[in-house]
Amino acid sequence: MTGPSAKLQVVIAGGGTAGWMTAAALSGTLGAAIDLTLVESDAIGTIGVGESTIPPIVLFNRLIGINEAEFMRATQATFKLGIKFENWKDVGSSYFHSFGTTGKDHWSAGFQHFWLHGLTRGHDQAYDDYCLELKAALAGKFAHLPDDRMNYAYQLDSALYAAFLRKRAEKDGTKRIEGRIAAVELDGASGDIAALALDGDRRVEGDLFIDCTGFRALLIEGALHAGFDDWTHYLPCDSAIAVQTASVAPPIPYTRAIAHDAGWQWRIPLQHRQGNGIVYCSRYLGKGQALDRLLASVEGEVLTEPNVIGYRTGARRKQWHRNCVAVGLSGGFMEPLESTSIHLIQRAVLRLIRMLPSGPVSDRDIAEFNDQQFADMEQIRDFLILHYKVTDRRDSPFWRQCAAMPVPPSLEQKIELFRETGRVFRKNEELFVENSWVQVMMGQGITPQRYHPIAAKLLPEELESFLAMLRDGVTRTVANLPAHDAYIAQYCAAG
Ligand code: FAD
Repeated sequence: MTGPSAKLQVVIAGGGTAGWMTAAALSGTLGAAIDLTLVESDAIGTIGVGESTIPPIVLFNRLIGINEAEFMRATQATFKLGIKFENWKDVGSSYFHSFGTTGKDHWSAGFQHFWLHGLTRGHDQAYDDYCLELKAALAGKFAHLPDDRMNYAYQLDSALYAAFLRKRAEKDGTKRIEGRIAAVELDGASGDIAALALDGDRRVEGDLFIDCTGFRALLIEGALHAGFDDWTHYLPCDSAIAVQTASVAPPIPYTRAIAHDAGWQWRIPLQHRQGNGIVYCSRYLGKGQALDRLLASVEGEVLTEPNVIGYRTGARRKQWHRNCVAVGLSGGFMEPLESTSIHLIQRAVLRLIRMLPSGPVSDRDIAEFNDQQFADMEQIRDFLILHYKVTDRRDSPFWRQCAAMPVPPSLEQKIELFRETGRVFRKNEELFVENSWVQVMMGQGITPQRYHPIAAKLLPEELESFLAMLRDGVTRTVANLPAHDAYIAQYCAAG
């Protein structure tokens, strides 16, 4: 058995959200056990979007020792309890994908089976009435509850988050170099990356390189040609425009995703402003039309120039190739419909820490990392496609294309199994749990044809008291919660 021989020299290329999350996690976890350098270029800048997150970020921040109130002050963050999807099933309808658990599952059958049985017995209360996070979100309320009973994430200013992480990473020993990467030098014998050549004749050598250069993917693709799987045929949107506006109302504890005839728009409320954007398919909507539509719909004074972003949906075929790991946009991109990109950064970084080499990079580690990271991306891809595929919308060429497109067999199995039986199974640490799939599948318009027979085992009075107890628990808890904005003010002032 051998331990580390010499200190591992790790070089992070790029300092956006991906670069600084990677640096903060590596230096916060390993400190002086590795030698960590980050190269970034202020002149090139970052993508400047990425504000809505999902609950695992709370754990990520805790893992690297972040004080939550300090983080919320520094990033102007608000709490997020889920996403409200408007106009997705059809124009005028809406549903909520909350971060909570709806009702109470039995080990053999999720709560939806009991709720569906209830419908046949005349219990017509909405499925939503059984979810604490959902009802709290729509009431504009939030508080931390004992035992983490309220499951939440954040809506944050991504530039401020990167700056906040940078401070921590530098304090924990990360060396930052300002400069433009002019070339990536390969070792002639091994084909690995040997060094980054920076402007001004500087060179940064390393053992392991982490590509956080965003869509440019300078190392993983530019130098190492890892390859790219294009998923545009499943997720046809390819463009986005973002603008920031002044707040016109207290921030709500959820993100809005509002579909239009060629994509959708987001609204992300922060403490100090609102993030807005439009995502669209350029085949069906021009840039000018998209911008007009966005600007016509925002509320509040526009604070920034429109940030126009073109993208290609898909994943780098090898997320880790030779001595280079892609983290963030360099590893691939799927639209921000379920706020999953920052999460993929987190998954990659924590996975990398688990597989950090203690000598020469092992091909086994690389294969394992790639398998796991790619599986994460495919599962998220399937979940996103669901929103487009299962819909009653046929009002535009875009939605007709979505309804007609073939979907991956993995997704088709999930949809049809749910349609026939009401069942959803979570496989291999999949990010989205059963209740997430149920909320979105029912929200998009699927009502299962059957439910598990165990639900019918309850006597009518048992079913009634079970459902009433769950609903009352939600109603009482929500009634006692403070308003979201008041809670943030008090929490940030005290922490
Ligand atoms: P970037 O921010 O582009 O950073 C790249 C870094 O590399 C920069 O520091 C740059 O200076 C540096 N660099 C590049 N080339 C060079 C060079 N030659 N020399 C030196 N340095 C260089 N994610 C979410 O989780 N939630 C969301 O709500 C969300 N919304 C999004 C909306 C849109 C429209 C898009 C496109 C993305 C969204 N994302 C979202 C994704 C999120 O923005 C990214 O995952 C996140 O910002 C990470 O980006 P990055 O750090 O990989 O890349």
